[in-house]
Amino acid sequence: MLIHSLPAFRACAWSTVSYRATEMAAARAMVEAAHPDDAVVVSCQRLEAYGFGPCNCQAPDQVHGRDAIVRLAAVAAGVESVVLGEAQVMGQVRLAFKDASGELRAAADVAVGAARRLRSETSFGSHSGHLLDKALRMSTVEPGGTLLVLGAGAMGNLIAARGAALGFTVTVAARRKPGDSTHTFVELGHAPSLPPFDVIVGCLGSGAGEIAPRALPTARLLVDLGTPRNFNVLSGPGAIAISDMLEDEARRPHATARRERLRRRLGEVVDERLASSATDSRSAAGAFRAHVEVVRQEELSRYRKLHPDVPAEVLDRVTQSLLEKVLHLPTARLKDAEPDDVRSFLAFFAPAGEPAPVADPPPSVRA
Ligand SMILES: [Zn+2]
Repeated sequence: MLIHSLPAFRACAWSTVSYRATEMAAARAMVEAAHPDDAVVVSCQRLEAYGFGPCNCQAPDQVHGRDAIVRLAAVAAGVESVVLGEAQVMGQVRLAFKDASGELRAAADVAVGAARRLRSETSFGSHSGHLLDKALRMSTVEPGGTLLVLGAGAMGNLIAARGAALGFTVTVAARRKPGDSTHTFVELGHAPSLPPFDVIVGCLGSGAGEIAPRALPTARLLVDLGTPRNFNVLSGPGAIAISDMLEDEARRPHATARRERLRRRLGEVVDERLASSATDSRSAAGAFRAHVEVVRQEELSRYRKLHPDVPAEVLDRVTQSLLEKVLHLPTARLKDAEPDDVRSFLAFFAPAGEPAPVADPPPSVRA
């Protein structure tokens, strides 16, 4: 499907990495209220509203047109995540667009398709669990001691697994015991009475509220991966949050350059997909018109023989103008139709036993 309003496509974006629970809840409510027709992407790092038309909200970052599609593709591919290439954010983007239709759906399809392509041609080899590696590198704590993971959601599970792989003795504290966990489990309310740990990682979701350090066992390193922040504690040598990791990442020239290369590549793929969706629609409409013209020419030559008294140019003009009237709207609509609808529509015109008047474009150019 063609995105006619592409120049009006827009992203309003907030970084939420340093938000505390109350700020995060307020920001989310504000963004959703200010963008009732948009798809809102919510992840541990961002709140981003994607939609069409001008918006005068106070978003610190607004991107438009093709660049907004590239931005969405980069978010979906994990290129904007602290752990480059982490896969969870793809699910968060798909969730945001699950009810989208029309051009909003088409824009999301181009972006998600481009993100998938980038992921298939790039080996990232990392997932959110590697946030633990990054936090350890930023601290003086060596892997291999004791690790307490708060939370047993997707992030908590990845951190617990990564901790075990790094040689930590892992304890998981959550409201409910995860079904297939092999780690020591304690109920979240009992966590404060546990003995000291080398590292404590907070992976609790938005309902958890903020935890004061005195409500935690003592630890050499506190890592806050919560959304919003889990710990009411200032960043420092013994306390690292996602915002600190983002800052650290931004200071590494190689990492920044690699992200820039990946964004450029996504731009190429998005441009390719936008161009091919335009060609597909035009070629479908063209094939339809060509098919009708073949039929008209066959009938014309028959009429000329049947009615030699009628001037040939009159027959030509009458049939042409009649068909032009009939075909004008269907042709225009065909250029905007979804590929599946185009195929079914064209199939109605195929003579019995013959293929529809358009061949599928090669898979490599399909959006
Ligand atoms: Zn806005």
